[in-house]
Amino acid sequence: MQYYSLQNHQHRVSFREAVIRGLAPDKGLYFPVEIPRLEKDFIERIDEYDPQYIARKVIQPFIGADIPVQALTQIIRETLTFPFPLREVEDNVYALELFHGPTLAFKDVGARFMAGCLGYFRKEEEKPVTVLVATSGDTGGAVASGFYDVPGVEVVILYPSGKVSDLQEKQLTTLGRNIRALEIKGTFDDCQRLVKMAFLDEELQARRPLTSANSINVARWLPQMFYYFMAYRKVKQMKKEAVISVPSGNFGNICAGMMAAAMGLPVAHFIASTNVNDTVPRFLENGKYAPNPAVATLSNAMDVADPSNFVRILQLFAQNDRALKASLTAYRFTDAQTVAAMEDVYARRRYLMDPHGAVGYLGLKKYMDSHPGYCGIFLETAHPVKFANTMPDSLREAIQAPERVMILDGMEKEAVLMDADYAKMREWLLQTSKAAATADAK
Ligand SMILES: *Cc1c(COP(=O)(O)O)cnc(C)c1O
Repeated sequence: MQYYSLQNHQHRVSFREAVIRGLAPDKGLYFPVEIPRLEKDFIERIDEYDPQYIARKVIQPFIGADIPVQALTQIIRETLTFPFPLREVEDNVYALELFHGPTLAFKDVGARFMAGCLGYFRKEEEKPVTVLVATSGDTGGAVASGFYDVPGVEVVILYPSGKVSDLQEKQLTTLGRNIRALEIKGTFDDCQRLVKMAFLDEELQARRPLTSANSINVARWLPQMFYYFMAYRKVKQMKKEAVISVPSGNFGNICAGMMAAAMGLPVAHFIASTNVNDTVPRFLENGKYAPNPAVATLSNAMDVADPSNFVRILQLFAQNDRALKASLTAYRFTDAQTVAAMEDVYARRRYLMDPHGAVGYLGLKKYMDSHPGYCGIFLETAHPVKFANTMPDSLREAIQAPERVMILDGMEKEAVLMDADYAKMREWLLQTSKAAATADAK
């Protein structure tokens, strides 16, 4: 499969190159030149197949010959090491739980798949490559865990000191081996600025090659289709049509779902549920794409004012407004509504949602109020324990932390505390890279 840049449809690259580059040189996002269609028979018999086979069938056309089937099967096996349960929350309302992976959020799927692809492509190279990434919380943990011990890949994660949750910090700073954390005395924006400067620094890159594990990378975006198919497998047995609500920030997750539907997955409608960072709901209402400055909310992984992946959704519908609106509705919700939903669902059903899942639940309910008769699914994108510090007291007590969270509690944090100063970071990157080189030579 070839990919073109959304800024320039003539610029085409292979899957391999799209993964290694991340973004086209003109800063456009990569998009597949065609959308593969799945055979009807595959969809009709989907409940007969196992998840790994389904995943391979779905992703293979997007990769083509760049990764041979055997290696791809292995990457999928290492990606799908945890289940995606569909839990009934109330009549006709189901939570698709995407938080059973190692870092308790859905980003594990994309990060692990991308790590597998990059590890495969790096095999032929001699010099190790460094994945450099800035995180406001969830991305760093998923990348650290996904790339842990991948040969030929070093990982450096920048995070803002004091601005990620304790659990998120542990997930970034306790693994060791090929994973290093820089604790930056500044904000997430400072971290992002430092990363961008490093990517523009050609002299640095000649000495220490860098790549990004950003969420716009096609190898992180496309495998997110997998769990939509897993959910459909279960819905099919209920003999109902599904509508799916996705709590959305950068719009990568929902864009994967809509790509799955374009391939032939039966989904009656998608609902993009946002917090008050509501650029897309406003756009669908009045046709004007006008981002406001980002606002901090309880569902902080969705505090995105200008969602990068939305251009991919527009492209899926070939910029046809009417077709887009027939498939997608978007709603926004406040923090007060989010907390009320968490409390209400817990009180009535003893089901504890995290703030992101709660936004998804609200969007689903709102849509189903005027469109009854569907099987409604909302994506529960993170385990509530990840956001324990911002939950109301009454709910915090109800959190049941998985065992691997307790294990992290006993582990030592290892991070290099650093000013938000590019010269310092650059020097550190060069020094630690030399250390790696001499260690390899021994
Ligand atoms: C990243 C994230 C989101 C937003 O996903 P997008 O693909 O950026 O729309 C939602 N919930 C959680 C918990 C996240 O970590």
